[in-house]
Amino acid sequence: MKSVRLIHAALVADGANVQAAPGALLLDGRRVVGVGSPEEVGRPAGVEVESLHAHAVMPAFVNAHTHLDLTACGYRPYDGDFDAWLLDILAFRSQQTPESVDASVAQGVRALDAGGVAAVGDIAGHQAPHPSLKHLAAAGIGGVSFTEIFGMGPRIPGAFDVPGAPTSPGPPGAYLRPGWQPHAPYSSDRRVFAASLETGYPVSTHLSESPEEIEFIRSGTGRFRRFLEKLGVWDGSAHVGVRHPVDWLAQILQGAPGARALCAHCNYVDDPALDILAAGQFDVAFCPRSSAYFGHVGHRYREMLQRGITVALGTDSMVCLTTPDRLSTFDEFRFLMRRDGLDLSTALAMATIHGARALGLSEDAFRFATGVAQESAGITQVPLDRPGSTVAAAAHALAHTQAAPAWLLRPQAPDSHPNQNQPQILRNYCL
Ligand SMILES: [Zn+2]
Repeated sequence: MKSVRLIHAALVADGANVQAAPGALLLDGRRVVGVGSPEEVGRPAGVEVESLHAHAVMPAFVNAHTHLDLTACGYRPYDGDFDAWLLDILAFRSQQTPESVDASVAQGVRALDAGGVAAVGDIAGHQAPHPSLKHLAAAGIGGVSFTEIFGMGPRIPGAFDVPGAPTSPGPPGAYLRPGWQPHAPYSSDRRVFAASLETGYPVSTHLSESPEEIEFIRSGTGRFRRFLEKLGVWDGSAHVGVRHPVDWLAQILQGAPGARALCAHCNYVDDPALDILAAGQFDVAFCPRSSAYFGHVGHRYREMLQRGITVALGTDSMVCLTTPDRLSTFDEFRFLMRRDGLDLSTALAMATIHGARALGLSEDAFRFATGVAQESAGITQVPLDRPGSTVAAAAHALAHTQAAPAWLLRPQAPDSHPNQNQPQILRNYCL
């Protein structure tokens, strides 16, 4: 019975249909074999109760969009001057060496681990693809490491020539896979998007983040046009004159049946774009604190959820976060509960199973599923002030706690993933 653990907690909750206060969780190894109230779960003979009477117990979190290579940049205040902000970030990037990129990614992976995150959509910039796969694999963190590419005008032919970029999509069903991230519709031509989708790798991008992006896609004018001209990559060949960035990407996705695009932000979505998102091959990675940092308001994530769109949560990079020790969607779902009054179940679903779905992982690994073969990706615990004795009281305490999540069950050791240990991952993808 050594591998059997019985946990009692003030709140046991997941993003599916588990909510119990007080709650109990019965584990056999990494498998959930009982969940509910302490009475419902009972106590197998010879098993001691692990008491967490002032804690919430939840599945591991999924961070569907972040930039690990920017972790060392740290928080930078934003005063509304986007060009100045971008120059600041580019200055940081220009000083990065292969060694400092590696260190920044490693710091980012530690920040994921410190936030109870077991799967991630990492956007690996210049020099970062290999460190991203290496450090994620070493930590047993799954998901997709998207290599970021840029390609407009004369840079289109070399868009995929990124040092250290993966050379194989690896075996299907792997817990950690490489992908491509054409940066955005204003920085990567439609031919680059189409070529990314044709590879069969998972594809992500930034989409409809700002009004300036809509202007560029509509008329080829504005700040992004000036930026491309400054970089010397505007040659007039960019495909513009499309109503909205969502329409623009939908046209490209039509040429790639079965493919999906994980789209970060989607801050500006009107009714026709919402219809296209709901009908099409889109998943959304919503980064609430990042949107707030840049002053974007009125995100339509609740309508997206009602329309059946998978809306996962992401943190975006450490640059916009005031939690220097962690990169966790734990803070995103609590932010939405406090700011928008979002209910615990929906918020937790966005931070766990929606992210798993968007990254092609098993949803069962990120909820308290009994009667399934799937092992848990990890289980987190968070101390609560005054948790009370109801789900509502405990959810309120969870939304307002200052504490960080800790592991009750860590992500699986990397060498326990069958055929997917760290050296094999690097061999599969990078050599
Ligand atoms: Zn991003």
